[in-house]
Amino acid sequence: MSLTDTYTLANGETIPKVGFGTWQTPDGDVAESAVLSALKAGYRHIDTAAIYGNEESVGRGIAKSKVAREELFVTTKLWNSNHSYELAQKAIDESLQKLGLDYVDLYLIHCPNPKEFRENWQKANAQAWKAMEEAVEAGKIRSLGVSNFRSHHLDALMQTAKIKPVVNQIYLNPSDQQEEVVAYNQKHDILSEAYSPLGTGKIFTVPELKEIAATYKKTVSQIVLRLSLQHGFLPLPKSVHEDRIIENTQLFDFELSSSDMAAIDALKGQAGVASDPDK
Ligand code: NDP
Repeated sequence: MSLTDTYTLANGETIPKVGFGTWQTPDGDVAESAVLSALKAGYRHIDTAAIYGNEESVGRGIAKSKVAREELFVTTKLWNSNHSYELAQKAIDESLQKLGLDYVDLYLIHCPNPKEFRENWQKANAQAWKAMEEAVEAGKIRSLGVSNFRSHHLDALMQTAKIKPVVNQIYLNPSDQQEEVVAYNQKHDILSEAYSPLGTGKIFTVPELKEIAATYKKTVSQIVLRLSLQHGFLPLPKSVHEDRIIENTQLFDFELSSSDMAAIDALKGQAGVASDPDK
């Protein structure tokens, strides 16, 4: 396995098994150079979102890297205020324009039940999805997915979706493995992407992880990201530091034993849990 190895999605598209996260990466030089460092380190999968406010700098980092577009996988997301047909159409075009790309590889509904559309989230998602499906037909998006969805949100979406979601991006790390959502995703051939794979930095304080990392002569970050891969998830580590960006790619020269995997899986709730998307 290597950084450029891919999973094959249910629609036949391929997706690099590790993505580079950009939430809370400040717009401007920081985001641009983080993306450049990531692409230099060998990542070929970048995860951003309209709400991160850094699509333009992410796009500049991509352009400066000179990595061929067909070698790259870029994801962005529809923000909560845009859950209607017209607003989603506009949001897709705006994201493409900011990123400086003709298409994105993956476009996700960021949250299933935003406060703005609480009265009728099912209809709002269905309308946004229709705009997303048309963008696929128009060549602006390759694959569609969701984020923070639970089974009832996906069940509702599937009632009208012509194109099935192939990814569900969820909070996933040893502190909360969201077993029910993961089982639902598996059953429906939806890849589970692991956001906050390092618990947004909180995972580093878990003492048991430090002990296990020492036995493998690896860092806590590498242990946790390796676990994510061994579970068949797609981790999306974020960093703005080049040394950590590189560290987070060194995952392919060791394997966690099944007993260590079980020990890590038992570490629940030590570094935060997924928030409830209906609250
Ligand atoms: P992560 O779980 O990836 O953790 C990032 C934090 O850990 C940062 O503080 C970073 O610091 C630090 N860090 C990274 N690598 C190391 C290392 N090797 N050693 C020590 N510290 C390290 O955070 P996120 O919550 O950002 O999640 C990752 C990505 O997932 C996001 O960036 C985003 O793309 C996606 N996401 C999606 C969400 C959704 O709703 N769909 C919600 C949340 C995240 P520093 O940067 O200073 O190096």
